[in-house]
Amino acid sequence: MKNCKVIEDLLPNYAEKLTSEETNQYIENHMAECKDCSEKLKIIQKEIEVDKRVDLKKESNYLKKYNKKLRIFEAIILIAIAVFIVTVGRKMLIIQCMQNKIAQYDEIDNFYRKCNYYQGDIMGTTEIYKKEDKFKSRLSDLWFCDENTRLDVREVYGNDKNENWYIIDNYNNKDKSRKTAMLNQKGSKKTMKGILGMHNFETNNFWELFIMAITSNISSESCNGKECYRISYTVFTGCPATPILWQQEHYRQIYYLERETGLPVRSIDNRDIRINHGEKEEILDYEYEFGNVTEEDMKEPDIGEYEIVK
Ligand SMILES: [Zn+2]
Repeated sequence: MKNCKVIEDLLPNYAEKLTSEETNQYIENHMAECKDCSEKLKIIQKEIEVDKRVDLKKESNYLKKYNKKLRIFEAIILIAIAVFIVTVGRKMLIIQCMQNKIAQYDEIDNFYRKCNYYQGDIMGTTEIYKKEDKFKSRLSDLWFCDENTRLDVREVYGNDKNENWYIIDNYNNKDKSRKTAMLNQKGSKKTMKGILGMHNFETNNFWELFIMAITSNISSESCNGKECYRISYTVFTGCPATPILWQQEHYRQIYYLERETGLPVRSIDNRDIRINHGEKEEILDYEYEFGNVTEEDMKEPDIGEYEIVK
């Protein structure tokens, strides 16, 4: 029982299994004969056990808290993704639904569309008549400038074979009596596509539709007495080779589309056209008639009355 003091000093390290093989042998030999030291070892081992448990508990509490935070973070991300998908998806569905409704009018071969537009000091009317393979458009611009009002009228006659001829009547303010006609101009058949010539609202693939949906605000509003979707979105006009989101040139386009038919009731265009004449914003109001265009409406004027120009 002599060496108890030495053994007592070694016990903590022994309990933590830090001592060497030889030391272990020495301690174990001693304890086989010394009850006191055996008791002390048991106490030390119990203390270590308790310490370990406390440590474990601390660690698991920390992990629990960390996991909880992670789960909340994950939930927030998932909710954000879900909200994004639902809102953008809803917009894509509305846009596509309206596009499909508009497309139904592509095949209609008898219609009349009147568009009244206002922009700064210009107001005017564009009328389009379509009957079978022929079309006629009549553009009347009324200008308020230089203390004078001025009316420009231009008519275009054409057909689906892309043969157009233009009559420009009263187009030059200085010589109102001059009646001129340009014949056999290459017409832009494209502008007569469908009822609208509304290429802006078309999308060619999923990504264009997706971008339109992302940039759009859609609300339900009444316009000119009709229940409409008001769809406001960004039109990108830069180089087609540039990825759409990197394109710098863009403007906001707004359509009021009748919910039942998809037909535009009003459009608001913020392009820089005619910017030198005042306001940028151009407002266009549309009216439609179907099946009422007659042969009389499509009758071409007597060219003999016109001076032919190139
Ligand atoms: Zn002892």
